[in-house]
Amino acid sequence: MLAIAHALVGGAIAKTIPDPATGILLSLTSHFIMDSIPHWDVGTNWRKRQKYVTGIVAILDTVIGITLAYLVFQGKVATGYLSLAIIASLLPDWLETPWYIFFANAQKQKPAARAGFLEKLCFRIYKGESAFHHKTEFPLGLMTQLVTLAFFFLLLSSPG
Ligand SMILES: [Zn+2]
Repeated sequence: MLAIAHALVGGAIAKTIPDPATGILLSLTSHFIMDSIPHWDVGTNWRKRQKYVTGIVAILDTVIGITLAYLVFQGKVATGYLSLAIIASLLPDWLETPWYIFFANAQKQKPAARAGFLEKLCFRIYKGESAFHHKTEFPLGLMTQLVTLAFFFLLLSSPG
């Protein structure tokens, strides 16, 4: 999903769960739960555009997501805890990034047989995460995210 959605849910978890260790772990888990819902994001159809365009959009998405999460939740949660929860909510996508940046391209679906250790490691992380990933096209894939966000906010804001 978009970093905006991940970061907001991470912040909401931090605000709701008093124990930082539990909250940070849940925030990390939320990433995989959210990505398993069919969605549209920066990675969708990336092979059809220039790599640098995807990169710029991904950075914008991340910066806006982190900024929004701070705007919404700062003052309601300790800043250190909030920061770690936001990082945890986004971390799986950051771990996937080296494969995209350094190795992947529109033609290449996987490392060559003689690829180096690092390339194979990056690919394995990317593949591991892709197992959770379900994609669908815009605009349906954006709507599923709005519904998911609403669901998480309702769930997390309900008393008890
Ligand atoms: Zn992801």
